[in-house]
Amino acid sequence: MGHSGNRRKFLATTVQSVGLTALGGLLWSGYTDAVKASPPVLRPPGALKEEDFLKACVKCGLCAEACRNRESNIDQETGKPRKSTLKMAKGGDHRLIGTPYFIARDVPCYMCEDIPCTAACPSGALDLARLSEKKGEPDINEARMGLAVVHKESCIAFWGLQCDACYRACPLLDEAITLEYQKNDRTGKHAFLLPVVHSDVCTGCGLCEKACVTEKAAIFVLPREYATGKAGDHYVKGWDEQDQRRVGNRKIEEIETRDVRSSQAPAEYLNKEIEF
Ligand code: SF4
Ligand code: SF4
Ligand code: SF4
Repeated sequence: MGHSGNRRKFLATTVQSVGLTALGGLLWSGYTDAVKASPPVLRPPGALKEEDFLKACVKCGLCAEACRNRESNIDQETGKPRKSTLKMAKGGDHRLIGTPYFIARDVPCYMCEDIPCTAACPSGALDLARLSEKKGEPDINEARMGLAVVHKESCIAFWGLQCDACYRACPLLDEAITLEYQKNDRTGKHAFLLPVVHSDVCTGCGLCEKACVTEKAAIFVLPREYATGKAGDHYVKGWDEQDQRRVGNRKIEEIETRDVRSSQAPAEYLNKEIEF
């Protein structure tokens, strides 16, 4: 091949590689967009905050292995080995490939006392220390994989029907879920027994979601950052000593006012057709 042939080949290769690079860029950005748009994901017990977890996890799969291969992972009813809770994300799962997660409605976390998944992690992405803060030793009850939330409109207990499936399935019965008695004004003679989840106790195991009798679970677990709100530091619970200590001896006038509306007296904005 002559000089011009070489040049043509060089140009063709360059164009090809630019094309491939651009395509790679497109594919990668498509992939990262897909991951960014991924559904909320539940991680194993002891997982670091999602952002830190994604950096720390080396995608070795040892946690899922430890979850799957347990001799004690036996279904009480059938006597057969149970499907493992943890899956490793693969293409099409809309989660970062190679990272462990679980879908509570399929297979929840059975809150194993010895927490083999977390213990197996070599990278610290799952950290036993996060489960040892209260007792000084790992305790699965300290796991905060997510938080169960109740969708009142589809929970049949809120319709007045008798159902306590989630309540009974909860390993922290009467602590993570309680049943709240409420008079049924519609019938006048019946009572509601309503499931209430306590966020300071719920581990996010998903056993309630799995047990829920409705077609699509009326109680379901979300990662905590999706399931919780934040009142803001400027709200202080006057009846709570710990919260009072947070603001110390500051006088109420010294506490910063955060928005235009609350910096004005009501007479300044009422009836003035000001939109906030
Ligand atoms: S606590 Fe048990 S069931 Fe839950 S993820 Fe770990 S090994 Fe699996
Ligand atoms: S064992 Fe740890 S590093 Fe390995 S996949 Fe599980 S979380 Fe990631
Ligand atoms: S996720 Fe459901 S079953 Fe698990 S601790 Fe929370 S309320 Fe109980």
